[in-house]
Amino acid sequence: MKQRIVVALGGNALGNNLPEQMKAVQGTARVIAGLIADGHQVVLTHGNGPQVGMIQQAFEVAARHDPKAPHLPMSVCVALSQGYIGYDLQNALREALLELGLPTPVATLVTQVEVDKNDPAFQDPSKPIGGFFSKEEAEALMAKGERLKEDAGRGYRRVVASPKPVDIIEKETVCALLAAGQVVITAGGGGIPVLREGNHLRGASAVIDKDWASARLAELIDADLLIILTAVEKVAIRFGKPDVQWLDRLSVRDAASLIEQGHFAAGSMLPKVEAAVSFAASRPGRESLITQLEKAAEGIAGQTGTRIAL
Ligand code: ADP
Ligand code: MG
Repeated sequence: MKQRIVVALGGNALGNNLPEQMKAVQGTARVIAGLIADGHQVVLTHGNGPQVGMIQQAFEVAARHDPKAPHLPMSVCVALSQGYIGYDLQNALREALLELGLPTPVATLVTQVEVDKNDPAFQDPSKPIGGFFSKEEAEALMAKGERLKEDAGRGYRRVVASPKPVDIIEKETVCALLAAGQVVITAGGGGIPVLREGNHLRGASAVIDKDWASARLAELIDADLLIILTAVEKVAIRFGKPDVQWLDRLSVRDAASLIEQGHFAAGSMLPKVEAAVSFAASRPGRESLITQLEKAAEGIAGQTGTRIAL
C-alpha cells in the first residue's frame, strides 16, 4: 500500500562531523530512495545536535578573538543547520534517486515551528547545547543574562528551553510540494522555533525536539505513518538489563503505561515513544514505527521495528 510517510532521521543517519556526514548521507539516501521507488510519498525530517553545536562553537570561538563578532541566537543557528544538512541530504537523495532511474525533485524547506510563549519549558530551560565553559567563563556569561548549567561534571553549557511544537508555519508549502510529486526535507533540527506576534514571527531562544516536531508535522500534513529511524531496531523495556525485552507492537494505551513506568530514557528514547504515541493517538488509522535506518523497508512491511497504533 502506498503511504504518505514522515521519516525522522536520527543522529546516526547524518554522522557527527563534516566528513562523517558526507559519507553517512549516502547510505541514508539509498534507503530513502528505496522507499520512494516503492511508491511512497516521503517527507524527511532530521536532528541537528552535532551540526548546531558546530555552528555555535564556530561563532563562540570567533567571539573570544573578536569582541565585535556576533552572538548568534539559537533560531539562527537552527536555520543555518537546516541549510547545511539539507544541502548534503538533498544532493545525496537526488543522486540515489537518479541511480534508480527516478528524476524525482528534492527540496529542502527552511521550516519554522511555532511554540507557545506560555509553554512551561520556558520557565525551566534544561536542554544543554553547544560547547563547554569553565566556571569563571560561565559566571561571566550568566552575569550578562545568559542561562548556563553544570553538565554532569564536564563543565558548564548553555541551556535552552525545549518547548512543544504547536504549528508548522510552512505546512501548506510541504503539502504543495508533495502534491507536485517532490520529496521534501523539512523541520530540520525540530524546526526554527518561533513565537507568533501578530503577523510577525519572532525567533525563540529554544530548541524543539525533532521527534516531537516530526509527529506534529505528520499530523498536520495528514500522514499515514510516522517512522522514527534511530540506532536501535526496536524499542525495549528493561533496556540494557539482562532481561531486556524488545517490543514489536504496542497500543497507545500500553505505550503510555510503559512511559509512566519509566522504561524509556529521557532525552533519547522517551521523546520518540511519546511522539510516536501522540501521532498514533491523533486519529484512527495513523501508526508510528520506531526502527533502524537499515530496517526501514522491513519495518514498513510489518516485519520488524516497534509499531505503535491506537
Ligand atoms: P537519535 O539521534 O536517533 O535521536 P538517541 O540517541 O537520542 O538517537 O536515542 C536513541 C537511543 O536511545 C538508542 O540508541 C538507545 O541507546 C537509547 N535507548 C534508551 N532507552 C531505550 C529503550 N527503552 N529501548 C531502546 N533504546 C533505548
Ligand atoms: Mg535524540
